[in-house]
Amino acid sequence: MASTAATRIHGKEREELADILRKRVSGEVRFDPFSRVLYSTDASIYQMEPVGVVIPQNVDDVLAAMEVARENNIPLLPRAGGTSLAGQTVNHAIVIDFSKNLNQVLEVNSEEGWARVQPGIVLDQLNRELAPHGMMYAPDPTTSSRACVGGGIGNNTCGAHSVIYGKSLDHILEVDAILADGTQTHFRNMEAHELEAKLSGTGLESDIYRGVRNISQGNIAEIKARYPNIMRRVSGYNLDEFLTDDPFNLTKMVVGSEGTLCVVTEAKVNLVPRPTMTALSILHFSDIVQASEAIVEVLRHEPSSIEVMDNILLQRSRESLGHSGDLSFIQGDPGALLAVEFYGESEGELVSKTNTLKRDIEGKGLAYACVNILDRPGQNRVWNLRKGGLGLLMSVHGDAKPLPFVEDTAVDPETLGPFVKRFDEIVRNHGTEAAYYGHASVGCLHIRPLVSLKSSEGVATMVSIADEISDLVKEYGGSLSGEHGDGIVRGVYTEKMFGPEIYQAFQELKRTFDPQGIMNPGKIINCPPMTENLRYGPDYHAQTIPAKLDFSIDTDFAGAVEMCNGMGACRKLEGTMCPSYMATKDEEHSTRGRANLLRAAMSGRLP
Ligand SMILES: Cc1cc2nc3c(=O)[nH]c(=O)nc-3n(C[C@H](O)[C@H](O)[C@H](O)COP(=O)(O)OP(=O)(O)OC[C@H]3O[C@@H](n4cnc5c(N)ncnc54)[C@H](O)[C@@H]3O)c2cc1C
Ligand code: SF4
Repeated sequence: MASTAATRIHGKEREELADILRKRVSGEVRFDPFSRVLYSTDASIYQMEPVGVVIPQNVDDVLAAMEVARENNIPLLPRAGGTSLAGQTVNHAIVIDFSKNLNQVLEVNSEEGWARVQPGIVLDQLNRELAPHGMMYAPDPTTSSRACVGGGIGNNTCGAHSVIYGKSLDHILEVDAILADGTQTHFRNMEAHELEAKLSGTGLESDIYRGVRNISQGNIAEIKARYPNIMRRVSGYNLDEFLTDDPFNLTKMVVGSEGTLCVVTEAKVNLVPRPTMTALSILHFSDIVQASEAIVEVLRHEPSSIEVMDNILLQRSRESLGHSGDLSFIQGDPGALLAVEFYGESEGELVSKTNTLKRDIEGKGLAYACVNILDRPGQNRVWNLRKGGLGLLMSVHGDAKPLPFVEDTAVDPETLGPFVKRFDEIVRNHGTEAAYYGHASVGCLHIRPLVSLKSSEGVATMVSIADEISDLVKEYGGSLSGEHGDGIVRGVYTEKMFGPEIYQAFQELKRTFDPQGIMNPGKIINCPPMTENLRYGPDYHAQTIPAKLDFSIDTDFAGAVEMCNGMGACRKLEGTMCPSYMATKDEEHSTRGRANLLRAAMSGRLP
């Protein structure tokens, strides 16, 4: 297998490969041990050292890197912000980092509502550039300050407003892609005669057109039976988009393929008008199950977003100097909040929408309080709490951390109440706890049980919880991934979720796009066991370093270094964070980069 070839690359062979690349690439070629450590992790529980890193200056560099990978049978991994949670952005591969140089807006057409962009552009940066046009790119993950369009294409990223805007799938119109054999192509909606021409052609591109059509249309009954009937299905490949020839746009297959099928070098993205005004209604509940049960009723009011926050998140925020001031809108001691947002054209419209919701929900006794917030600073405080509280949730001292391994389930919002109850029982039966937050409007909750992977018992607990949750999700007809993607941690359950026939179809699809098997292998399908390649495993050991400062809150200095979970907020390009990263856009100058290097040095991976 190609990944085995990559793990054999070392010493002289690695140097020779780097030399070949340096001759063909005008950008940077970084094969040194430090760079390899920097690109070994993302925001997941995994760690896989790359063969080396290429930071392309232009598309020719990407082509050259792919050619070298192909000639040497080395896997290839396209990477953007590296904020993925399932292990899809780490591999024993040549990593191509698009975020440093291929990050421009190339064209904006606000009349027709689209823009052409490079894959490394950060979402917030794109929206800053679109603001003067009165437009925006709609997919809005919590990581929008550092996640890029290319990563969103890879993962089929969604966000808080997907109840009105859908997924990345609905906003990526066309892509320029490089296929595994080096063919440069453009995927877009095909007219019937254009599709016919592609289907009757020769070469890998035509093989792909034929393959996608045959695989999808040869499995229609099974696809209809096995794909969850919910909007937030991100797991697996999008075979369900190709059940007919009208429309036929291979962009839809690239979205959500996690770098396993081809490399995207440019995208034409859909733009939507920016909302004129917004308002929030904050519904207060005594517990998370009650909050989940109210969602169907709230959805009848056609909000633009419903976000849920539980009492653990609220408690952490109360304890935080930075966030305790954001909580003045809270009444009493809620077990859970729903932050319900409305769009409107005038204040009058928003007053009417929020008051109607308040009357309805209080009248039905669904929430014990409803606080309406119309002013901008007040709404910002709530969003800061939702986004910042997430950071606080993850900053847990000690070895047991809130880990992402069942953190992305999605079910029909109608069944969210009983689903959450059962989920919580599974977590508690394993002697641990979890915080709840997420995109309640679409049934996608981010639940991270507290587990330490530094012991065999902890690893076994993770596997046991993951097994039981995968059963539960199947029982509820849901998706293991609602937005974060499969990577390894959910890829190991792809066959269980879709069944053997669809799994075989996925394998055939992968072989069709990537006959050599070098495109980010071992993700979505054919994954290594979920317990291999862990960033922290039972064998992990960090050296104790005597320190002058007091790190006892994190046990010791190593514990403080291990507080970095890789979510990449230190890669944001605006506001207060890492000025050195903002100036250089080099991973090594982000706090994440420094933490990773320190951890590697203290655990013996670096001299
Ligand atoms: C704290 C936290 C909160 C999050 N919240 C959300 C959320 O609200 N909604 C959501 O959807 N996600 C969320 N995520 C997950 C993640 O941030 C998103 O999926 C994000 O869009 C990934 O973007 P990235 O630039 O970091 O991509 P990366 O992690 O770098 O890459 C993602 C995938 O895309 C592939 N890829 C990257 N560039 C290319 C390319 N040029 N061609 C082909 N494939 C490519 C990669 O190989 C990889 O498989 C969250 C993550 C964290 C840590
Ligand atoms: S250093 Fe902090 S902000 Fe940066 S990735 Fe780690 S936890 Fe996130």
